Amino acid sequence: MTSFKEFAQACEVIEETSGSLDMTSLVAELLDRVSLEELPVVTHFVMGEVFPAWSSEEIGVGAGILYAALAKSSGLSVNEIENIVKETGDIGKTAVRALGKNSKGQATFSSFFTEAHELSILEVFQRFQTISKASGKGSQAARIKNLQYLFNSASAEEVGYIARLAVEDLRIGVGEGIVRDAIAAAFNVPVEVVERGFMLTNDLGLVATTAKQGGTEAVSELDLQLDRPIRMMLAQITPTLEATLSDIGEAAIEWKFDGARVQIHKDGDKIKLYSRRLEDISNSLPDIVESVKKYVHADSAILDGEAVAIDEEGHPRAFQDILKRFRRKYDVHSTAKEIPLTLNIFDIMYLNGKNLIDEPLVKRRELLSGCVENSDSIIQVDKQVITSDLEKINTIYSEALKAGHEGIMIKNPQSPYSPGKRGKNWLKKKPVMETLDLVVIGAEWGYGRRTSFMGSYALACHDPETGRFLPVGKVATGFSDEQLSEFTALFSDLIIMESGKKIELKPEVIFEIAFEEIQKSTNYESGYALRFPRLVNVRDDKSLEDVETIGRLEEMYKLQRERS
Ligand code: AMP
Repeated sequence: MTSFKEFAQACEVIEETSGSLDMTSLVAELLDRVSLEELPVVTHFVMGEVFPAWSSEEIGVGAGILYAALAKSSGLSVNEIENIVKETGDIGKTAVRALGKNSKGQATFSSFFTEAHELSILEVFQRFQTISKASGKGSQAARIKNLQYLFNSASAEEVGYIARLAVEDLRIGVGEGIVRDAIAAAFNVPVEVVERGFMLTNDLGLVATTAKQGGTEAVSELDLQLDRPIRMMLAQITPTLEATLSDIGEAAIEWKFDGARVQIHKDGDKIKLYSRRLEDISNSLPDIVESVKKYVHADSAILDGEAVAIDEEGHPRAFQDILKRFRRKYDVHSTAKEIPLTLNIFDIMYLNGKNLIDEPLVKRRELLSGCVENSDSIIQVDKQVITSDLEKINTIYSEALKAGHEGIMIKNPQSPYSPGKRGKNWLKKKPVMETLDLVVIGAEWGYGRRTSFMGSYALACHDPETGRFLPVGKVATGFSDEQLSEFTALFSDLIIMESGKKIELKPEVIFEIAFEEIQKSTNYESGYALRFPRLVNVRDDKSLEDVETIGRLEEMYKLQRERS
């Protein structure tokens, strides 16, 4: 049984290491050292995750709960905790300081327990599980109590990492890439095999335990599984149609529907629907569940599609309407009547026990058309035309726009389905200047009439090399009072820290931002800033993988200069 102290000590060393090779070998050493039972937990913990990304379990601890637990454990007031947060700028350091200095002489480290009690990694995980399961009345108190237990059992070395894990922000710089390489190194499995195992299972904890138990052979046998959503394949912007066609010859052209992504898992009569963020949305969309049950003729299948909210004329409605459907937990049937959806299915990854992701798109489409009956007004297989004729493509493009959709997708007919990958095999063409999908990493409390609202939001892009989010500016204008109060509620669960008017937020919510121009700037760490940024939509359907990369900003900046 490995103690949490050992994990905390390893984190401390990793936190002080900068080179990714050194970090990888430290993580590999840690993964190698722990028991089989501890391995999946440690694999996720080291990335600052408590549960795998595909799981619907969530720890649900925000700043409010964490501060209350720290206050109770230390005997300080919540106000005093907030002051320490302001001084240290870090929730881990806050926990160490708050629990180390105890003004009232009550709960110092380990005060609730005898000296002999040492927290194990599994015990910390089990407490987090208990916290995640707390629901209904009294759940807040239960969460606080369990955190308090952990804080009071932990030593000075451990409390900081417990606090950071509780808000899933470990800050030691370990991302999926490092963990993937570490698993390969620790258990002597080629990196490509680990990568593929991860792609199919979406769970590095599972890949690690499989590697430890059965090596390369066992990891190679990992496969898609019903009810465990995989990451969605993503699209890139078309350079030009001509260039694309000369690259791939014929292209498969589909409408780019203006809606939200849905992954469908059918296991007999059991239907599960997952959003772009891999949340289980089956209960919110009973109409789609029924249609899939009736019109998808397969014992088992995993399908990919876009749900669109439609008006009486069949035109797509505002994106917010789809989100109303996705988010709805009660009165789902009446909301379904109010906002009817259609589901355009465009891909199939699994059919009757067979994984199809390596089959070429044309073959997958053939199988898809063979199992989905288009006799329903709710689900249909999206129309696809394979052509190299530019004129034909432009006609389809105009038709899609006329029907109120976003544009077209240009797909390589010979391409596999690559979960989580954004590459040349799926290209998108839209008419407007591209907007940017940026993650909200901070906010500021407003002034005057708006003091109780968060009014200005700090935006960031992603640096895939370091796994960090780099600030690119703020969006502060154009919100209605209604939106401001909605956002304040939405973000209040994501507060990591507050200091004066400034709030640090857990990067989770994605804003689609329109702007006039990208400028070079020394004000922000990304090196870029946006002129006149304005919010187009809150993209609840998107996840952190969709956040624009720094490379893309560079590309757009160059393109803009070429055009001007
Ligand atoms: P974007 O969100 O602009 O990166 O464009 C990619 C998104 O378009 C996908 O994630 C889907 O949600 C959506 N989409 C709409 N129609 C299609 C289609 N026919 N094939 C693939 N994706 C589509």
